[in-house]
Amino acid sequence: MMTDKVIETKDLVAGYGKMVILHGIDFYVTRQEIVTIVGPNGSGKSTLLKAILGIARVLKGKVYYEGKDITNERLDKISKMGVGYVPQTNNVFTNLTVKENLEMGAYTIKDKKEVERRMEEVLDIFPDLRGRLKQLAGSLSGGERQMLAMARALMAKPKVMLLDEPTAALSPKYVDLVLNKIKEIRDSGVTIILVEQNARKGLEIADRGYVLVTGKVAYTGPAREI
Ligand code: ATP
Ligand code: MG
Repeated sequence: MMTDKVIETKDLVAGYGKMVILHGIDFYVTRQEIVTIVGPNGSGKSTLLKAILGIARVLKGKVYYEGKDITNERLDKISKMGVGYVPQTNNVFTNLTVKENLEMGAYTIKDKKEVERRMEEVLDIFPDLRGRLKQLAGSLSGGERQMLAMARALMAKPKVMLLDEPTAALSPKYVDLVLNKIKEIRDSGVTIILVEQNARKGLEIADRGYVLVTGKVAYTGPAREI
């Protein structure tokens, strides 16, 4: 089925075990859009990403990726299809070097030359990591770790990236840096779903937005109107 919707959910009811967190979410992102999801703590933003990824449990409704039904599909399969994910916390291996972290992002690729090529492309987007490849990821600052986490996800050449609060706990300077990087990643051809607690700044770089309140879409529309 041809569709320009990269990810779509229809009447999505999802949660953990039998506990329902999302109550019928209709959501979509089209090719090369940045869609930002905002809402209060506990409103279900992370759960929406996790339900798309097969981590939270879908109890009713559907998740589509490029028109294909991926409802409750396994995370590793969904990743291999081209869906990248940077979780809210613990998103780098602190006891590995920056280079090893990047290589982990392309662990499915056996061809070493291809991994090197990808690393060059990714380092063109994140030039600051270039001089730090041998450093342990645990010695990076919070902002640098976020950069590395996004760079690592890019190593898998995703078509769409799900980013869960990449600017959480960053100083204002780093917030702008990370958000600008996200725009750059989009401009390189990747579709972006961004969960952002810094609502104003997160919506500034977005094409469309969703406001989640207690597991429901309270508002959706052009980002500048939210
Ligand atoms: P925040 O802005 O704080 O990150 P959020 O909008 O991302 O919040 P979620 O993490 O989706 O919110 O959580 C929504 C609800 O689901 C919360 O009440 C939370 O306690 C519950 N929840 C989250 N993860 C789990 C889990 N693994 N098992 C059970 N309940 C969970
Ligand atoms: Mg969250």
